[in-house]
Amino acid sequence: MLNSCCDVVNIASGKVRTLYLELVGTTSQQSKVVVCRQEDTAFISFNFWLGSIMHISKQKVPTMQNFDFYNPTHIIFGQQRLNELDKLIPCDAKVMVLYGGGSVKRNGALNQVLEGLGSRKVVEFSGIEPNPQFTTLMRAVDKVQSEDIDFLLAVGGGSVMDGTKFIALASKIEENHESLLFRGFVSPTQHSALPLGCVATLPATGSEMNMSSVVTYQDQKYPVMSPLTYPKFSFLDPTFTQTLPQEQIANGIADAFVHVVEQYITYPVNAKVQDRIAEGVLQTLIEEGPTTYANNDDIEARENFMWSATMALNGVIGSGVPQDWATHMIGHELTAMYGIAHGRTLAIVLPYLLRERKKQKRAKLLQFAERVWQITEGSDDEKIDQAIDRTEAFFNSLDIVTKLSHYNIDNDGIKTVVQNMEKMGLTALSETRDLGLDTVSRILRSAR
Ligand SMILES: [Zn+2]
Repeated sequence: MLNSCCDVVNIASGKVRTLYLELVGTTSQQSKVVVCRQEDTAFISFNFWLGSIMHISKQKVPTMQNFDFYNPTHIIFGQQRLNELDKLIPCDAKVMVLYGGGSVKRNGALNQVLEGLGSRKVVEFSGIEPNPQFTTLMRAVDKVQSEDIDFLLAVGGGSVMDGTKFIALASKIEENHESLLFRGFVSPTQHSALPLGCVATLPATGSEMNMSSVVTYQDQKYPVMSPLTYPKFSFLDPTFTQTLPQEQIANGIADAFVHVVEQYITYPVNAKVQDRIAEGVLQTLIEEGPTTYANNDDIEARENFMWSATMALNGVIGSGVPQDWATHMIGHELTAMYGIAHGRTLAIVLPYLLRERKKQKRAKLLQFAERVWQITEGSDDEKIDQAIDRTEAFFNSLDIVTKLSHYNIDNDGIKTVVQNMEKMGLTALSETRDLGLDTVSRILRSAR
């Protein structure tokens, strides 16, 4: 089978559309009829004459997929609003407040939370580490069960929020808690979870407004998904992020950027609203990222960054469109094996993945170049190359080095990453499931 890209002229509208084609058959000698398949649902046949398209006899290109959109999380955005906690949690609830290493004490969030909870019974659980460990979370589950907790309040960044979601699910089952980890993107079958709320202190993962979490177990990262773990509410107060170290801001910007790209740079399905929101979020990150990175005190830039990170992964831009997530799958392995921060791994992988997948992602890469980076000069190939180079330069401008050698990962290290992915069954990635481990290996070697 031959894969190729092709410009298709729609005779009726005169529009040119670039398609990624999988050639599945040819007939006829002089007037070559080519039957091409894109995904399993779309078939296109053309007549080719002397290399140019003379006629389109039938055209059916992918359109927006059916989708359900459900997101019940109440967002409370803005400064100094934690006194509103009182109306969001039942008065008689016994609340567990969960956090990480104590930054929430320094930035004042914990104190404000405890004040906001008033006279409710409160149990604290601290020490949820970055890339939350199953064993740590299970200690919290024991405490939830022994203390008879009925509401969880996560105060922190993505790891604390993710960990709390897992605890919400695991607290409602008696045994075999590990089984929650091995379901991929399939939700567990249980019917209840403890209700949870969030006070987000690090804009990055979008965990404050989605049903996903990632848990580390025996040095591997596992996604856990359940509609039962949508936060009931999330407070987004940009002032809580002002004490964050600069490198965490950079990581958060890269993470949010790549979340959008994973849902946007795939292949076109004519999802105009999703595309334009995705482009708006990317442009906001490009515009405000460097400002908010350089200056913790610029509240307006931080507000825009914070909402961008939430919008990047709350389901809106991913509805009805194909999604990739290969950069995340490769990045998770780099974090699990070498401890590189999540956002940084994505910034390393993405530019090289896009270069490797230029053919398959051609139409959306061109759209990305023209609409996000506003590149108008040059051939289509030049525009695409420029857009990828500028994306990498954007990460570099946040002092993120996008080379594996900087993190002391050599060819042997790359081999181990690929072997681990094979062990995890991550052998058919991307929006078309045709990105295999040989390609992963090429991407990582080019990122050396
Ligand atoms: Zn991410």
